[in-house]
Amino acid sequence: MSNKPNRPAAAGDGNLVIVSGPSGAGKSALTTHALGALPDIKFSVSYTTRSPRGAERSGVEYFFVSRREFEALRDAGEFLEWAEVHGNLYGTSQNFIDALLRQGMDVILDIDVQGAGIIKKKRPDAIAVLVLPPSFDVLRERLRRRGLDGEAVIEKRLGMARDEISHYPDYDYLIVNDDLGRAERELDAIILAARCRMDARKHAAASILEHFGGLNV
Ligand code: ADP
Ligand code: 5GP
Repeated sequence: MSNKPNRPAAAGDGNLVIVSGPSGAGKSALTTHALGALPDIKFSVSYTTRSPRGAERSGVEYFFVSRREFEALRDAGEFLEWAEVHGNLYGTSQNFIDALLRQGMDVILDIDVQGAGIIKKKRPDAIAVLVLPPSFDVLRERLRRRGLDGEAVIEKRLGMARDEISHYPDYDYLIVNDDLGRAERELDAIILAARCRMDARKHAAASILEHFGGLNV
């Protein structure tokens, strides 16, 4: 019996879905929704040197490690990419995501723009999604209302957003996160459409063709 998740027979590896964009754009809201709404998809749990916030637990939102532990992992080649973001180190675990992809799971990454660029170069098949707020003023308002950062940090994040947005041509998809419900549906649709690509479904097509007597050659 296949140990693949709910997919056509002999489906290949899952898809790597990169969700990126400026702080406050809505990456976390959209990835959380997709993880709850879709089957066969897991979150890429990154390593970070920042401290847990609120109810965050190690192994769920992040693997929380010291700077020394992070550097040892980095030097051992554990990370597909790593970056310093807002003064803390963050790294994507290659082993973690590859184990899931091999099981046929899609893996969704919530990472910054630098990391997205590196992964897209190393794994050109990855699906890169840029999330943007509808405007500068809306982004500032959301960062304020989120209540995680003080005014100085918010201004710093807004300042970085311009540079981050300038990378937009490197992405495969753009979601303008104005209406949250619509943006959630758009991310779900991107993930579902990738699963239906002929490349990913050709084994299913071949096995259905068998029921019809196979290829006439
Ligand atoms: P990111 O993960 O990109 O930093 P979040 O998902 O934390 O951003 O979103 C930033 C804040 O904006 C959160 O408080 C979130 O609830 C809110 N938010 C996200 N999308 C929308 C939206 N479309 N309309 C209104 N508020 C939103
Ligand atoms: P936070 O500390 O608010 O959870 O995340 C801060 C930023 O780090 C966000 O933009 C998030 O997307 C990014 N981030 C989280 N994990 C990784 C990672 O593994 N690599 C990179 N490059 N960025 C990450």
